Amino acid sequence: MEPSKSISSDHLDQHVQLEEIRLLYGGTPFSFSAAVVITLIIYNVLLGHVTSQQNLNIWLFTILGVMFIRSIDSYLFSKRNKQQQLEKKWRIRFYIGTGIAGLSWGLLPWLGYSAEIEYFSFILVCLVGVVAGSLSTLAYRWETLALFLLPASILLILRILAENNSFFNATAFVLLVFIFFSLSAGKKIFNNTQQNIRLRLEADGRERAIELMHQKQALHLQNTPLAIIEFDIDLNVTEWNKAAENIFGYSHSEAIGENIMRLVLSRDSSVEAEKLWQRLLNHEAVTGSVIENKTKSKEAIFCEWFVTPLTDEKNEIVGIAAMALDITEKKQNELAIIKSKEEAEKANQAKSDFLSSMSHELRTPLNAILGFTQLLKYEKTLSKKQQSHISEISNAGNLLLELVNQILDLARIEKGHLQLSMEKVTLADCFKEVRAMVSPLAEKNDLSLDINIESNGYVIADYTRLKQVMLNLLSNAIKYNVEHGSVSMKALQKENGVVRISVTDSGRGISQEQLQEIFLPFSRLNTASNIEGTGIGLSISKQLVEMMNGSIGVSSTLNKGSDFWIELAGNLNITSAIESKSKTMLLDDSLNDETNASNNILVAEDNPTNQTLIMSQLEALGYTAELAENGQEALNMMVNTDYHLLLTDCNMPLVDGYKLAQTIRDRGNHTLPIIALTADAFPEKKADCLKAGMNDHITKPVNLQTLKDTLEKYLS
Ligand code: ADP
Repeated sequence: MEPSKSISSDHLDQHVQLEEIRLLYGGTPFSFSAAVVITLIIYNVLLGHVTSQQNLNIWLFTILGVMFIRSIDSYLFSKRNKQQQLEKKWRIRFYIGTGIAGLSWGLLPWLGYSAEIEYFSFILVCLVGVVAGSLSTLAYRWETLALFLLPASILLILRILAENNSFFNATAFVLLVFIFFSLSAGKKIFNNTQQNIRLRLEADGRERAIELMHQKQALHLQNTPLAIIEFDIDLNVTEWNKAAENIFGYSHSEAIGENIMRLVLSRDSSVEAEKLWQRLLNHEAVTGSVIENKTKSKEAIFCEWFVTPLTDEKNEIVGIAAMALDITEKKQNELAIIKSKEEAEKANQAKSDFLSSMSHELRTPLNAILGFTQLLKYEKTLSKKQQSHISEISNAGNLLLELVNQILDLARIEKGHLQLSMEKVTLADCFKEVRAMVSPLAEKNDLSLDINIESNGYVIADYTRLKQVMLNLLSNAIKYNVEHGSVSMKALQKENGVVRISVTDSGRGISQEQLQEIFLPFSRLNTASNIEGTGIGLSISKQLVEMMNGSIGVSSTLNKGSDFWIELAGNLNITSAIESKSKTMLLDDSLNDETNASNNILVAEDNPTNQTLIMSQLEALGYTAELAENGQEALNMMVNTDYHLLLTDCNMPLVDGYKLAQTIRDRGNHTLPIIALTADAFPEKKADCLKAGMNDHITKPVNLQTLKDTLEKYLS
């Protein structure tokens, strides 16, 4: 604030200086002509009465000469522009001119001296008049007054004193007093004049600023897109600008004096308007309140209102000033966005629901296909051809299962149901496990597989999901390779605690255009058409890696090979203490354990195919089992027989698996192991099972090894 203040006061000072010098020079034409007249009168009166006529002539020429030079100086000044007039030289020239003029007048009693007392007194009176007159034109500056007055009066007083006469001595004293008062009066006039100049300049400046402000306000009022409306305490409109005319459709003359509520308010908004009015009456300003309004043509519009109460000096509300912005378009866009978002969410939800129920429905028949196929593999009587057919069915079934699992993953991710458990994953363990899983496939395709299981260090990830991504990349690298090609997986430390795991193959590669869409769901490239695949593995991998706060990418050259990489937070130089168990899902050679027969298992399952399958599986594992068609039958059977374990389907008629488990626990049996068999692979299903009192849960299709391991866990 300070600098601007000093700038404006500097500006004012300059104005004052300019005004002063102009007033000083401006006074000269009048004072010079008056001085010439007085000079000529004095000369004429004194003519013939002076001691020396020659001295009087010298005085006359001196004073007229000085007047003439000053007139020319004054004329030159008037021809200069503002900036030049402000130059210091004009001030100095005026001061010198005034001093010389004062001196010339002071010479009058010396050069025009008359021994006759009445003529000398005449000189005295004339000089006093000149001095008094000079007050009006020279008092704009204190210095000019002094410069004129002092030489003129001192010379006069000295001349009077030289007379050595008591009358003149008294006159000299009176004159001295007169000079003193003239000077102090001059000083006062100077001060007042100064102040007047300042006040006038300030007032001029303010007047101009106010005028400018009015102009601006008028312009804004007319051109702003904001409706500016004022109304009195009775709600009658007093101000209505152009924007208000445009927004609400009423002209200025139609609106003035009308009730604002009737003009702009739709019936639906009266409650909101009433609330707003109450706030205003409490002297509260209301900003950004959105109200549904209506136009003259009864069209509904949305306006954002900024409203303030106007108060008088007693702080009583005398009216309201309001601004309204038409936001109908914005509001409509917002509503359209919300609606389309809701629709998109609904469609997405429907898609996810469809996918998850589809995959559930597919799991049930798949359970039978894969289960029976697995059992058939152990049938010793089958011919080679039949075994090969069984193997084909098994492969196709597994592929279908993979597709179902992947669709389920996709649905889970989209629903936001997929939960990750982030931990430090030891790379060596993970590498070892995936190597064990993919090396048979690599061998089958005659490819060299190089997975560096010596990799030290860890990454922050979900163990199972990281393995899933690695398996997807490795199986792709194997599937889309060439004969005798190679596949390798390596870990590399990048800067900032980031580890890159890259899977490189010497396969057919991917073209640059195709690279763009490779991570989109169901994007299978033409070249892949003769190779089994679902087209969603990479899209799931991308979403999983991103959920693990990592990134995934690829670089590839057609007919040379591809390099798929993922980057995750981690460190390669430290070995994590985490131990991961290497689970090989290979089925034990000996399925049947003699001791199992002593365990009696109750199976509750309603689907006939699944009934046959699970009973056959249990038989293959050497267990004795009895079957109940539903939960109610299972409960009835348990009244008479003690079972060692209950395997139950979840969805059954009459009493379902959850109700069955709950009833058993409610009846006080807390020791019987209850294991669910469910086609639902969602984690929340598992939680539901545990909540109902079950001990564990096996997802269909039931893998023989998993069934064996789970039963042994609870029956040992
Ligand atoms: P798919 O089940 O078809 O393998 P993915 O989502 O895993 O589904 O892969 C999508 C497509 O990307 C594949 O069909 C294949 O055309 C291409 N692709 C993936 N990995 C490679 C690779 N290493 N080399 C060449 N093409 C690949």
